[in-house]
Amino acid sequence: TTPGILASPAPNNDGDGKLRPRRLDEMVGQRDVIERLKIAIDAATRRREPLGHILFDGPPGLGKTTFATVIPAEMGTTVEMANGAGLSAPKDLLPYLTNVSEGSVLFIDEIHRVPKAVEEYLYTAMEDFRIDIVLGDGVNARTLNFELKPFTLIGATTRAGMLSAPLRDRFMIREHLGWYTNDQLKEIVMRNSRKLDIPVDDDAATEIARRSRSTPRLANNRLHWVRDYAQIKANGKVTLDVARNSLDMIGIDVLGLDKQDRNYLDTLLRVFAGGPAGLEAIAHTMNVSSDTLEDEVEPFLLRSELMVRTRRGRMATAKGYEHMKVKPPDAA
Ligand code: ATP
Repeated sequence: TTPGILASPAPNNDGDGKLRPRRLDEMVGQRDVIERLKIAIDAATRRREPLGHILFDGPPGLGKTTFATVIPAEMGTTVEMANGAGLSAPKDLLPYLTNVSEGSVLFIDEIHRVPKAVEEYLYTAMEDFRIDIVLGDGVNARTLNFELKPFTLIGATTRAGMLSAPLRDRFMIREHLGWYTNDQLKEIVMRNSRKLDIPVDDDAATEIARRSRSTPRLANNRLHWVRDYAQIKANGKVTLDVARNSLDMIGIDVLGLDKQDRNYLDTLLRVFAGGPAGLEAIAHTMNVSSDTLEDEVEPFLLRSELMVRTRRGRMATAKGYEHMKVKPPDAA
């Protein structure tokens, strides 16, 4: 997914190739997922078979793409990357399928965006390593069968619920990636500070982790920005004060919410009097797409219990009022 304006003003918010783990053992957290994957990888390798298809779901920035690059590395094979949004017709998918080599990985990010007409090609590709293409129509129609090399499809989605059952069921392994603890994020910050060659005090790393919304990508983004700030304003050393001041400066608050997160809460609290309000209405008011709000903003606000989703719409919680320092109506 596109990070949108959630990204911090770090120079290249996803250019953290240097920071992306290359092997499973370099990944922090997600121990259960990693343990299960290791078993599946070892078993497939021993049987000299391609690994079963894998589906990852979870909010953006928790490691779906990382897993999709680390798994082929563990298996000593290659990976091709596609995005569901770019596969609007069968002809967009074919080159990927015909290019796969035996045992290699095809990664489709945002797989929930693959349209139905394309999805149908994935069914036989995944199940029988075969695609049937119909050329022409009516009496002239003929079907071409292509044999594919046995491969592994790794799909990633922020919306597991949007996947059709036939597609979902063709993934042998389905893993949900959950939020990271502050300790795990701190470990990521400490490790990556060494990679970026910037000294970060222990309590500063704790602070950066605490303000990273339980998300490794954001921890890296924050770290990049804090490093820039430290190098220009503080002799290149990240102390607690440097971490606090630099994050305050880009509008990251103590819970890690950024301007867009707070704008959302503010809209819900002030414009919609705390709700219930529909997602579309909030999106229109903020002039942001509802997809962005649903994928990138709401998951963490829900998780932090700053708001709830009800049948009638989004509603702020007492905690939401308190965090935004807005008086709840009954206390008015
Ligand atoms: P999106 O759905 O937005 O593409 P994603 O879930 O694919 O997000 P990644 O791109 O894999 O997220 O992760 C973002 C960055 O966070 C990675 O480049 C990597 O540096 C870091 N990261 C993710 N997971 C871990 C982890 N388990 N340990 C260490 N770093 C991680």
